[in-house]
Amino acid sequence: MHVHRTPGGPETGPAPRTGGLAEVERLLAGRDVAVLSGAGLSTESGIPDYRGATGSRRRHTPMTYQEFVASEQGRRRYWARSHVGWQAIARAEPNAGHRAVEGLRRSGFVSAVITQNVDGLHRAAGTLGAVELHGGLDRVVCLGCGRRSSRADLDRRLHALNGTLFVPDAALNPDGDVQLPGALVEAFRVAPCEACGGVLKPDVVFFGESVPKPRVQQCYDLVDAARALLVLGSSLTVMSGLRFVRHAARAGKPVAIVNQGATRGDEYAGTTLALPLGATLTTLLEQLTSS
Ligand SMILES: [Zn+2]
Repeated sequence: MHVHRTPGGPETGPAPRTGGLAEVERLLAGRDVAVLSGAGLSTESGIPDYRGATGSRRRHTPMTYQEFVASEQGRRRYWARSHVGWQAIARAEPNAGHRAVEGLRRSGFVSAVITQNVDGLHRAAGTLGAVELHGGLDRVVCLGCGRRSSRADLDRRLHALNGTLFVPDAALNPDGDVQLPGALVEAFRVAPCEACGGVLKPDVVFFGESVPKPRVQQCYDLVDAARALLVLGSSLTVMSGLRFVRHAARAGKPVAIVNQGATRGDEYAGTTLALPLGATLTTLLEQLTSS
């Protein structure tokens, strides 16, 4: 995931946060709003953002697609870290923000949900049609035969091979992995595809990998069909999400962004707000459905 990340990004100085909650409410009241969500929506579910409260990048070296495919050691490192991180992802539950987005969708204010998150929490909140731009950690794909299987099955196999790795104070990141001591990585045993013995990869888009074209087109179509675009909890650092904001703005559609901190998409947005998402979206849903 996080394709085409540009160094630097929005870290240079605070951008003005303009408009108010009333503007976002008016936007939604017009109905048929497409939502694009990012890691900031899941922080209240205990899955940390890439950035801390200060907006500075956390130290985190993500796996690249090239390293994963080319290197057995790289795959061992990924799966060992992910084996630990998955326990937290699997336990995570949708928060008030995910539930409010689903409420807005059911009430017709939101027409589509596109998410950059791989944690599956929109689906868990009932938004079964959410488009997972970067895939989902709950699925695994074989690079040999293409077979998709469930992460829960793989998790059982990895537990049988490795037991439960206990890592105190392991810092989870939104990719679903954690930092691990080298010795734990070295000893880790990776599970091959049960059908062909091939290499298993999480069904997510790694750094250095492109989002599949049909999925990108599906998102453009959803934005085209919508009246406006609302970004929730994304700094839009990567082009894979930013392009939909640009697309909406070029089509003359209103764009609003609710995110803690400046984003790369602020110049395209008529409204930018820094507010906690769970409480804010719950308030919006209450106001829109009571009027
Ligand atoms: Zn296979």
